[in-house]
Amino acid sequence: MNLDVNEIFYSLQGEGGRQGEASIFIRLTGCNLRCTFCDTTFETGTTMTLEEIHTIIRQYPCLWIVWTGGEPTLQLTDDVLWFFKNRGYKQAVESNGTQRLSPVFDYTVVSPKGSNLDYARQINPRVDEVRLPVQKGDELPEIESLPEAKRYFLSPIFVDNLLATEANIAYCAAKILQRPQWRLSVQIHKFIGIR
Ligand code: SF4
Repeated sequence: MNLDVNEIFYSLQGEGGRQGEASIFIRLTGCNLRCTFCDTTFETGTTMTLEEIHTIIRQYPCLWIVWTGGEPTLQLTDDVLWFFKNRGYKQAVESNGTQRLSPVFDYTVVSPKGSNLDYARQINPRVDEVRLPVQKGDELPEIESLPEAKRYFLSPIFVDNLLATEANIAYCAAKILQRPQWRLSVQIHKFIGIR
Protein backbone atom coordinates (compact mmCIF):
# COMPACT_ATOMS: atom_id res chain seq x y z
CA MET A 1 0.00 0.00 0.00
CA ASN A 2 1.29 3.45 -0.96
CA LEU A 3 0.39 7.01 -0.07
CA ASP A 4 1.33 10.25 -1.80
CA VAL A 5 2.87 12.28 1.03
CA ASN A 6 3.51 16.01 0.91
CA GLU A 7 5.32 16.18 4.26
CA ILE A 8 5.77 14.52 7.63
CA PHE A 9 6.71 16.53 10.69
CA TYR A 10 6.54 16.30 14.47
CA SER A 11 5.13 19.22 16.42
CA LEU A 12 2.41 20.35 18.80
CA GLN A 13 -1.17 20.44 17.64
CA GLY A 14 -1.67 24.19 17.33
CA GLU A 15 -5.45 24.41 17.19
CA GLY A 16 -8.74 22.90 18.18
CA GLY A 17 -9.63 20.43 20.90
CA ARG A 18 -6.22 18.72 20.99
CA GLN A 19 -4.31 22.02 21.09
CA GLY A 20 -0.91 21.66 22.74
CA GLU A 21 -0.64 17.86 22.34
CA ALA A 22 2.43 16.42 20.65
CA SER A 23 1.48 14.94 17.29
CA ILE A 24 3.03 13.51 14.16
CA PHE A 25 1.55 15.35 11.20
CA ILE A 26 1.30 13.48 7.93
CA ARG A 27 0.16 15.77 5.13
CA LEU A 28 -1.15 13.89 2.10
CA THR A 29 -1.25 15.38 -1.36
CA GLY A 30 -4.40 16.39 -3.20
CA CYS A 31 -7.63 18.16 -2.36
CA ASN A 32 -11.07 18.17 -3.95
CA LEU A 33 -11.73 21.83 -3.02
CA ARG A 34 -10.01 25.09 -3.93
CA CYS A 35 -10.66 27.45 -1.03
CA THR A 36 -9.53 31.02 -1.66
CA PHE A 37 -7.97 31.28 1.84
CA CYS A 38 -6.06 28.00 1.59
CA ASP A 39 -2.58 28.38 3.11
CA THR A 40 -1.26 24.86 2.55
CA THR A 41 0.75 23.46 -0.31
CA PHE A 42 -0.58 20.03 -1.00
CA GLU A 43 -0.12 19.45 -4.71
CA THR A 44 3.35 17.94 -4.69
CA GLY A 45 4.52 14.88 -2.86
CA THR A 46 6.42 11.64 -2.77
CA THR A 47 4.89 8.21 -3.13
CA MET A 48 5.76 6.18 -0.03
CA THR A 49 4.92 2.73 1.25
CA LEU A 50 3.32 2.42 4.66
CA GLU A 51 6.48 0.75 5.91
CA GLU A 52 8.54 3.75 4.74
CA ILE A 53 6.20 6.13 6.56
CA HIS A 54 6.37 3.98 9.68
CA THR A 55 10.18 4.00 9.56
CA ILE A 56 10.11 7.81 9.63
CA ILE A 57 7.50 8.29 12.33
CA ARG A 58 8.74 5.68 14.76
CA GLN A 59 11.77 7.91 15.50
CA TYR A 60 9.35 10.20 17.39
CA PRO A 61 8.34 9.44 20.99
CA CYS A 62 4.67 9.95 20.18
CA LEU A 63 1.74 7.72 19.28
CA TRP A 64 -0.65 10.31 17.85
CA ILE A 65 -0.85 10.78 14.09
CA VAL A 66 -2.74 13.72 12.61
CA TRP A 67 -3.70 13.02 9.01
CA THR A 68 -4.02 16.31 7.21
CA GLY A 69 -3.80 17.74 3.72
CA GLY A 70 -5.16 18.70 1.32
CA GLU A 71 -8.00 16.32 1.94
CA PRO A 72 -6.42 13.19 3.49
CA THR A 73 -9.51 11.02 3.18
CA LEU A 74 -9.10 10.97 -0.60
CA GLN A 75 -6.26 8.51 0.00
CA LEU A 76 -6.89 6.95 3.40
CA THR A 77 -8.54 3.54 3.48
CA ASP A 78 -9.38 1.41 6.49
CA ASP A 79 -6.47 -0.87 5.57
CA VAL A 80 -4.10 2.10 5.92
CA LEU A 81 -5.65 3.12 9.23
CA TRP A 82 -5.45 -0.43 10.60
CA PHE A 83 -1.79 -0.67 9.56
CA PHE A 84 -0.98 2.16 11.97
CA LYS A 85 -3.57 1.22 14.60
CA ASN A 86 -2.02 -2.25 14.81
CA ARG A 87 1.31 -0.57 15.55
CA GLY A 88 -0.12 1.31 18.52
CA TYR A 89 -0.95 4.67 16.95
CA LYS A 90 -4.01 6.79 17.61
CA GLN A 91 -5.15 8.69 14.56
CA ALA A 92 -6.84 12.05 14.17
CA VAL A 93 -8.04 13.37 10.85
CA GLU A 94 -8.60 16.93 9.65
CA SER A 95 -11.12 16.81 6.84
CA ASN A 96 -13.08 19.32 4.80
CA GLY A 97 -16.17 17.20 5.40
CA THR A 98 -16.80 16.14 1.82
CA GLN A 99 -15.99 12.46 2.47
CA ARG A 100 -17.43 9.92 4.89
CA LEU A 101 -15.04 9.47 7.83
CA SER A 102 -14.02 5.98 8.86
CA PRO A 103 -14.96 4.79 12.37
CA VAL A 104 -11.35 3.60 12.69
CA PHE A 105 -10.23 7.19 13.36
CA ASP A 106 -9.76 8.04 17.04
CA TYR A 107 -10.48 11.78 16.65
CA THR A 108 -12.34 13.45 13.82
CA VAL A 109 -12.22 17.11 12.87
CA VAL A 110 -14.42 18.50 10.14
CA SER A 111 -13.93 21.96 8.68
CA PRO A 112 -16.83 22.29 6.26
CA LYS A 113 -16.50 25.07 3.74
CA GLY A 114 -19.43 27.20 2.54
CA SER A 115 -21.60 25.25 0.18
CA ASN A 116 -20.81 21.81 1.58
CA LEU A 117 -22.23 22.45 5.09
CA ASP A 118 -25.44 20.44 4.58
CA TYR A 119 -23.64 17.63 2.84
CA ALA A 120 -21.05 17.43 5.65
CA ARG A 121 -23.83 16.78 8.18
CA GLN A 122 -25.52 14.20 5.96
CA ILE A 123 -22.45 12.04 5.47
CA ASN A 124 -20.89 12.57 8.92
CA PRO A 125 -23.73 13.11 11.42
CA ARG A 126 -21.34 12.90 14.41
CA VAL A 127 -17.73 14.02 14.73
CA ASP A 128 -15.47 15.00 17.61
CA GLU A 129 -14.92 18.54 16.48
CA VAL A 130 -16.26 21.06 13.99
CA ARG A 131 -13.72 23.76 13.26
CA LEU A 132 -14.97 26.53 11.03
CA PRO A 133 -12.51 28.86 9.27
CA VAL A 134 -13.91 32.39 9.55
CA GLN A 135 -12.99 35.80 8.24
CA LYS A 136 -14.51 39.13 9.16
CA GLY A 137 -18.01 39.47 7.75
CA ASP A 138 -18.73 35.75 7.37
CA GLU A 139 -22.18 34.66 8.49
CA LEU A 140 -22.12 31.74 10.92
CA PRO A 141 -24.27 28.68 10.20
CA GLU A 142 -26.72 27.46 12.81
CA ILE A 143 -25.15 24.79 15.01
CA GLU A 144 -28.08 22.51 14.14
CA SER A 145 -27.07 22.56 10.47
CA LEU A 146 -23.65 21.13 11.27
CA PRO A 147 -22.54 17.63 12.23
CA GLU A 148 -23.22 16.88 15.91
CA ALA A 149 -19.89 17.45 17.68
CA LYS A 150 -18.34 17.49 21.14
CA ARG A 151 -16.82 20.89 20.37
CA TYR A 152 -17.55 23.69 17.92
CA PHE A 153 -14.66 26.03 17.14
CA LEU A 154 -14.35 29.23 15.15
CA SER A 155 -10.90 29.44 13.63
CA PRO A 156 -9.98 32.98 12.52
CA ILE A 157 -8.32 32.86 9.11
CA PHE A 158 -4.72 34.03 9.10
CA VAL A 159 -3.67 36.22 6.19
CA ASP A 160 -0.42 37.99 5.32
CA ASN A 161 -1.78 41.30 6.60
CA LEU A 162 -1.50 41.40 10.43
CA LEU A 163 -4.29 43.95 10.81
CA ALA A 164 -6.64 41.81 8.75
CA THR A 165 -5.73 38.75 10.82
CA GLU A 166 -6.39 40.67 14.04
CA ALA A 167 -9.71 41.82 12.61
CA ASN A 168 -10.64 38.18 11.89
CA ILE A 169 -9.75 37.19 15.47
CA ALA A 170 -11.74 40.08 16.95
CA TYR A 171 -14.69 39.23 14.71
CA CYS A 172 -14.69 35.59 15.89
CA ALA A 173 -14.41 36.66 19.53
CA ALA A 174 -17.37 39.01 19.16
CA LYS A 175 -19.44 36.29 17.46
CA ILE A 176 -18.69 33.84 20.29
CA LEU A 177 -19.88 36.37 22.87
CA GLN A 178 -23.17 36.51 20.98
CA ARG A 179 -23.38 32.74 20.38
CA PRO A 180 -21.52 30.96 23.18
CA GLN A 181 -21.96 27.45 21.79
CA TRP A 182 -18.85 28.31 19.79
CA ARG A 183 -15.30 28.42 21.15
CA LEU A 184 -12.26 30.25 19.81
CA SER A 185 -9.43 28.29 18.21
CA VAL A 186 -6.51 30.54 17.38
CA GLN A 187 -3.69 28.83 15.48
CA ILE A 188 -1.05 29.21 18.21
CA HIS A 189 1.64 27.57 16.09
CA LYS A 190 1.61 30.69 13.92
CA PHE A 191 2.34 32.85 16.99
CA ILE A 192 4.98 30.78 18.77
CA GLY A 193 7.15 29.87 15.82
CA ILE A 194 6.49 26.14 15.48
CA ARG A 195 5.09 24.16 12.55
S1 SF4 B 1 -10.25 22.05 1.86
FE1 SF4 B 1 -8.46 22.67 3.09
S2 SF4 B 1 -6.68 21.97 1.92
FE2 SF4 B 1 -8.44 21.90 0.51
S3 SF4 B 1 -8.37 23.89 -0.57
FE3 SF4 B 1 -9.74 24.13 1.20
S4 SF4 B 1 -8.42 24.93 2.86
FE4 SF4 B 1 -7.06 24.07 1.27
